[in-house]
Amino acid sequence: MLMSPPAPVASLEALENSQEFIPRHIGPDADEQQKMLAAIGKPSLDALIRDVMPDSIARARPMDLPPPITEAAALAELKAIASKNQVLKSFIGQGYYGTHTPGVILRNILENPAWYTAYTPYQAEISQGRMEALVNFQTMVTDLTGMPIANASMLDEATAAAEAMALARRSVKSRSHRIVLAGDLHPQTIEVIETRARPIGIEVVIANSQQEWDAALAGDLFAAVIQYPASSGWIVDWKADVQAIHAKQAAAIVATDLLALTLLTPPGEWDADIVVGNSQRFGMPMGAGGPHAAFMACRDEYKRSLPGRLVGVSVDVHGKPAYRLALQTREQHIRREKATSNICTAQVLPAVIASMYAVYHGPQGLKRIAQRVARLTAILSRGLARLGFSAHHHDTAFDTLSLHTRDATDALAARAVSRGVNLRKAWNEYLCISLDETTTRADVELIWSIFAQEGQALPTIEAMDEGPTSLIPESLQRSTAYLSHPVFNTHHSETAMLRYIRSLSDKDLALDRSMIPLGSCTMKLNATSEMIPITWPEFADIHPFAPASQLQGYAELDQQLRDWLCQATGYAGISLQPNAGSQGEYAGLLAIKAFHESRGQAHRNICLIPSSAHGTNPASAQMVGLQVVVTQCDDNGNVDMADLKLACEKHSANLACIMITYPSTHGVFETQVKELCQLVHSHGGRVYVDGANMNALVGLAAPGEFGGDVSHLNLHKTFCIPHGGGGPGVGPVCVVEDLVPFLPGHATAGDVRQVGAVSAAPLGNAAVLPISWMYIRMMGEPGLKLATETAILNANYISARLKEHFPTLYAGEYGHVAHECIVDLRHFKDSCGVMAEDVAKRLIDYGFHAPTLSFPVPNTLMVEPTESESLYELDRFIEAMIAIRAEIAEVEAGRLPRDDNPLKNAPHTAEALLAADWHHGYSRETAAYPVPALRRAKYWSPVGRVDNVYGDRNLFCSCVPMDAYED
Ligand SMILES: *Cc1c(COP(=O)(O)O)cnc(C)c1O
Repeated sequence: MLMSPPAPVASLEALENSQEFIPRHIGPDADEQQKMLAAIGKPSLDALIRDVMPDSIARARPMDLPPPITEAAALAELKAIASKNQVLKSFIGQGYYGTHTPGVILRNILENPAWYTAYTPYQAEISQGRMEALVNFQTMVTDLTGMPIANASMLDEATAAAEAMALARRSVKSRSHRIVLAGDLHPQTIEVIETRARPIGIEVVIANSQQEWDAALAGDLFAAVIQYPASSGWIVDWKADVQAIHAKQAAAIVATDLLALTLLTPPGEWDADIVVGNSQRFGMPMGAGGPHAAFMACRDEYKRSLPGRLVGVSVDVHGKPAYRLALQTREQHIRREKATSNICTAQVLPAVIASMYAVYHGPQGLKRIAQRVARLTAILSRGLARLGFSAHHHDTAFDTLSLHTRDATDALAARAVSRGVNLRKAWNEYLCISLDETTTRADVELIWSIFAQEGQALPTIEAMDEGPTSLIPESLQRSTAYLSHPVFNTHHSETAMLRYIRSLSDKDLALDRSMIPLGSCTMKLNATSEMIPITWPEFADIHPFAPASQLQGYAELDQQLRDWLCQATGYAGISLQPNAGSQGEYAGLLAIKAFHESRGQAHRNICLIPSSAHGTNPASAQMVGLQVVVTQCDDNGNVDMADLKLACEKHSANLACIMITYPSTHGVFETQVKELCQLVHSHGGRVYVDGANMNALVGLAAPGEFGGDVSHLNLHKTFCIPHGGGGPGVGPVCVVEDLVPFLPGHATAGDVRQVGAVSAAPLGNAAVLPISWMYIRMMGEPGLKLATETAILNANYISARLKEHFPTLYAGEYGHVAHECIVDLRHFKDSCGVMAEDVAKRLIDYGFHAPTLSFPVPNTLMVEPTESESLYELDRFIEAMIAIRAEIAEVEAGRLPRDDNPLKNAPHTAEALLAADWHHGYSRETAAYPVPALRRAKYWSPVGRVDNVYGDRNLFCSCVPMDAYED
């Protein structure tokens, strides 16, 4: 290497380069970009973009964003915003509690890219670690609730309750349209259920007294929802009520608290049908409302219509236990509008954390934490009684007391705030106090001092620590064991815990090891500097229902992020409340529906969806009571305009909307998109543009400008929130001017609008919003635009380089793709029996996560490299694909049998390769080291090809008996 000449003296400005982050986010540098452009046959990036993107949709003007700044400057600016949040000690409860995230979990999971950059575990073989953690989560939920089966997370407790309503309606014999809610549910749960019930004609009856409850249960109903312990803290035995509900052929849905269930008789033991709740207090900070993993458990008969992801145990080709996603035929990507829910991205990372909290503490540790909370609550209660405030409800409680404070309520709450404490104001003249793991003796004494009159003697902890150790009624004290599986009883030293966490992440392939070129999923850089702020106490330790004056930092973050996203999308209004793309779709369709209703056109109920749409689109349409009409795509993969015209004419009077994806799920910029929007508008319909592919648009084109009325974004795709192994996500819903009044409100948090809450918390997964803020702030307009252009360049480079080996299925007018390309493998089925899945699994042997498999076209792979991948990594992937093509050729030529070749037998485990007998027509070396670089660094799949059918036939979704792993 030549020594580089001394650098010329640079200006101060150049030395303080404020655009330092842009090249760090973008993989290929300028030289590499030139090489790639040459391979595509384009003189410049501009020339490529001109030929890729139709002129007709180009932005009218650049995005108006603050100029890029450095990592350090962005962190400093965000810190100033964060410090406008006031971190008070919150005793608000209402579903959100203080918790200590064990350090070993914080650093090695929440802050560890091996966990947070992983994708949803569709490729089972490279996801065994996170699926084991999810099976632990499921086991934890089934054990604590006393139910037979639980899924791998829900978006939040309120949406879980709404999903439970939908599950009950599908499953029970009762044909009633009425659901009864106990008035003592968390108010946000009531609100989200009401939002969900309204468009599908479910009548919601809220019972605010025993009389109303008894009367409601005497009438007809298909389900009733109970909170146990109640939102006010009250604990009652619901056994007889559940029987009464069952007598009506209806379902009993119970919202509950996992920590309480370590001490309370679980709902499963009094025959509940569906149990939901939130695992937040198992180690996830409150984060102003999310992300947290909610859960759902149900009776065995309902399992085939359970919403959300479920991890099951199956076997691999060698007969060893292996995890994989179970019963996928329930889900939106297969069942579409008949799916059990629209949930796609869920809350995997928070579920992993909650499960690890249980692994770390074990049953004894959890019980001790719960007993301490219960005991402090009893002590607090006795002290308050001494001061003249008796807990309202029958003296039963786990962690929450509600006091009838009448007209002193506001004054007491204000006094609490002045002492640095938040209490919950409820039902106008009550104060509720919830204790948690973080509560100290000093906190209890402080609360007493708030309630004490001038001169009144304060009780002491010692004096009040007499009498019953908790306020849990004798008859409801838990007698059954839980978490007896060894996994919850083994890793209790930090060393053991650290190694357990590491052993799981070592099994998985995440972005910290290789590119994950998943079409439609945009697995790009999740920069460390973007992740740093999410655990700042100013963001993490905030209760979502703290007084607005304490949430000023979040308000500013919300406002700025919405302004910037409006710039990126061309829309007039945005809500960040939906906590996944699917939820953004749901909120967007609610807006369209409410708009039509507001104009006396409630009859508009037809939703056109092209056949290539993502499964969440039809599933979301079904949720709001729209009728899905599928329209065809033409031979080039574009929306068939003739077919669409016919559909518009046929359904003109009842047309509610169309849902399109742009650029299309085929990875192409359709040139007729403007025309398409005009056509739908001319029939009175609105245009929903699924924004999952915004990574091909930001800075170049804006859906709000070219004819879209509503979009959702996936901040966990385009805007750098990591996938977390399948969540959390954020799915902002964006609308044009006349739909702004129909964005979701949040009455529970004081924001009353025509459409109610779609998430439990007003800002949804608030705590991960700083990630997208940091990204936009560091990139600015030039960075974001270059990112988009580079994403398009990278996809076109792969498409061009693979052309001779694997043709790209669809291309635009000039033969180019957008930000992803569908690699066509369909002809190999006939030529040699090789399927796209075999190529996907063989890629694992080469150290890659497979591209998107069989979406949107069966038996193809969809490759989306994103802008973050360098030329080196792209070439490594291309070389792997070319080498695989040569392996296919061997099978085609008959040199290797169709059913015994490196593709069919992939992935190859070390164990299989080291076995004494090897009787395949190719060598072990070919199996393990098909390209030389693998000899230096190799990812070994921990299991062989997983048998999906076996797992669904023999459904098992809890921790595997330990001896199953021994030979
Ligand atoms: C990812 C995706 C969705 C769903 O988003 P989630 O955040 O997973 O709910 C919808 N449409 C398309 C095209 C997608 O790629």
